[in-house]
Amino acid sequence: MMRSINSDGRVLTVADVWSKETGVRMLTGRSVESDEEAMALALSLAQQAAELGEVPVGAIVVQDGRVIGEGYNQPITSFDPSAHAEMVAIRSATAEIGNYRLSNATLYVTLEPCTMCFGAMTHGRIARLVYGATEPKAGVIVSAIQLPQQPFFNHYFDVQGGVLAQECGQILSDFFARRRAAKKRLKAAAKAAQAQELQAQEVEEQELEAKKGGSDDPQTLRGVEE
Ligand SMILES: [Zn+2]
Repeated sequence: MMRSINSDGRVLTVADVWSKETGVRMLTGRSVESDEEAMALALSLAQQAAELGEVPVGAIVVQDGRVIGEGYNQPITSFDPSAHAEMVAIRSATAEIGNYRLSNATLYVTLEPCTMCFGAMTHGRIARLVYGATEPKAGVIVSAIQLPQQPFFNHYFDVQGGVLAQECGQILSDFFARRRAAKKRLKAAAKAAQAQELQAQEVEEQELEAKKGGSDDPQTLRGVEE
């Protein structure tokens, strides 16, 4: 199960971390003491993405033990293909400190990053990346390709994976399982509606046929004549 615990031991709710009405950043300014604590905050942001129907990935940026940026995956709701959790968190962090470089900063993200986000981290000069679950299909740290080992970048950062990996993976599995179930329900409902329509059409045709039979039947007509 997900484990998003406040520093006082209380389980975080979405209301704790994000106000939809004001869009206020609720985590920025918080102090964090461990990788696990930081990842738990990123997980609470992933939960927020899930509630908006976005693939649940969350990220925070920490500098000098203080959260300076936060974000959750939101490409669909913000009409922005670049709005991955890491990108949103990086933009939020650079705005917070008024600097396009995130020197000495650690980026925490619940899922192994993609090429785009890896690029932004390199350009942003982060010092360290900590991620939760691996992304076997498109992850570029250890999975699909190992970008940190390529020789052509002008900046390299430390990497640590697997922090709260189980929780970070679980929130994604739960999300996709729910989505599959919803799709299945939709399909079944569409099938039922189609069957009902076909049946109604059949009844209508039968009624029409019966009516025709009543007025055009030559025998009946003859009967009237006689
Ligand atoms: Zn990405």
